[in-house]
Amino acid sequence: MRRPFAHALLVLGSAITVGCTARSAAVPADRSLLITNARIIDGTGSPARSGSVRVRADRIIAVGDLQKQPGDSVIDAGGLTLAPGFIDTHSHHDRGLDKDRSAIAVVSQGVTTIIAGQDGSSHIPLAGFFSALEANPPAINVASYVGHGSVRDSILGEDFKRVATPAEVERMKAIVAQEMGAGALGLSSGLEYDPGIYSDPSEVIALAKVAADSGGRYISHMRSEDRELFKAVDELINIGRVNHMPVQISHAKLAMRALWGRAPELIAKLDSARAAGVDVTMDVYPYQFWQSTLTVLYPARDFANRTTTDFVLREVAAPEGLLISRFEPQPEYAGKTVAEIAKMRNSDPATTLEWLIATSEAARKSGGHGGQGVIATSMDERDIARLIAWPFANISSDGELDGRHPRGFGTFPRVLGRYVRDQHVVTLEEAIRKMTSLAAHNVGIRDRGTIAPGMYADLTLFDPATVTDRATPTDPHALSVGIDRVWVNGTLVFAKGAVTGAYPGRVIRRARG
Ligand SMILES: [Zn+2]
Repeated sequence: MRRPFAHALLVLGSAITVGCTARSAAVPADRSLLITNARIIDGTGSPARSGSVRVRADRIIAVGDLQKQPGDSVIDAGGLTLAPGFIDTHSHHDRGLDKDRSAIAVVSQGVTTIIAGQDGSSHIPLAGFFSALEANPPAINVASYVGHGSVRDSILGEDFKRVATPAEVERMKAIVAQEMGAGALGLSSGLEYDPGIYSDPSEVIALAKVAADSGGRYISHMRSEDRELFKAVDELINIGRVNHMPVQISHAKLAMRALWGRAPELIAKLDSARAAGVDVTMDVYPYQFWQSTLTVLYPARDFANRTTTDFVLREVAAPEGLLISRFEPQPEYAGKTVAEIAKMRNSDPATTLEWLIATSEAARKSGGHGGQGVIATSMDERDIARLIAWPFANISSDGELDGRHPRGFGTFPRVLGRYVRDQHVVTLEEAIRKMTSLAAHNVGIRDRGTIAPGMYADLTLFDPATVTDRATPTDPHALSVGIDRVWVNGTLVFAKGAVTGAYPGRVIRRARG
């Protein structure tokens, strides 16, 4: 997922505080909330067990066979499953969060924490982003990486189609250090995108090292998810090896016909890196289609090269599998595939794809609206299941509050419905671990992601028998079903299909030491 870097530089909303109007759904400090009659899946992978959870203020204070005490407000879970709130380790739901603070796309999936600053694109300075969030808090917790592309953009500006000089790398290092000081979890990169694609691997290593020196991590939308996938994985593993830092593949996928069925090979490569001491992990979302810009289909940016175009349509995505999600020069093409647009234009798919990109690039260059986006079907179902099952893979959405890809609303319930209940890819307890404690571990968050005394009271109550996604490419904002209630920091934010209007979300800064 990419957004223009000019936007990435905008601090979320303004610093104006619109008095806190959150209804007082929080648990007062002298009272506690007792959730009884729940099947507790604690997030560690341990088997579900029946019991109760007591919450005081923003923390879990007891778990087990608990009796009602004076002052308890009691919620009977009715035998539903209580899990830690899900942690979305690759999210774009921060965009527009200042306007849509209830974040129904997020909480309706049972997600309580999002990790922003992905794909090399972050708010800079993060201190401003964080203080705007704290002045105008949303329903959910937010953490962020510092984005390599945004850092590069702030030093190179429009002159980015080149390797940076040593002096420029030094200036970028200073920004990364500043952002780590503000609480970034680490460095993210988007090496398939401008401007990251023009960086030399040594630049990325040097900047990631600054994050490592602060105890941070490296997470990457790698240089390639198709033609050069395995080479891109080598670059990521190498960063982990030379910098002695944890590294994570963002939204892992094998997005080319020739790669289909090769998930075991990818996993074997990662397992052997782990055996050699590199802490490499991944996040993955449960869809066969990705969403990005049309330009990523052309890593050499040779948009008019018919050989490349033919290769794209044969190997990366068929014309019927390229659904235009946005096309500002002619908005009527949004919601149509390249195959359909070709028919409308009495043309062929290759000419049409090249025309779409040329038209959007021309509009952009003349200062007009050239925005475009595509949802491309490039992945094989078997690979997705294998990636989800890898013990070090956690679940992420890559989604947005107002996006055209259904992942923004459906990811987590889809895993629980399709991959757990229907396909038995992993057990329910293992899936929950991948959405909670493993997710927290993979981004370096310590006090969320399990149900245990002392942890923050981010909780999701759901029905494993019915939970499923409803969002589709044609109805991307359809709410999932089966998520019953969601608490963030001890406060109810979602119940019975609706947000509560409470805004207990916090900024999560990297744990130090
Ligand atoms: Zn991405």
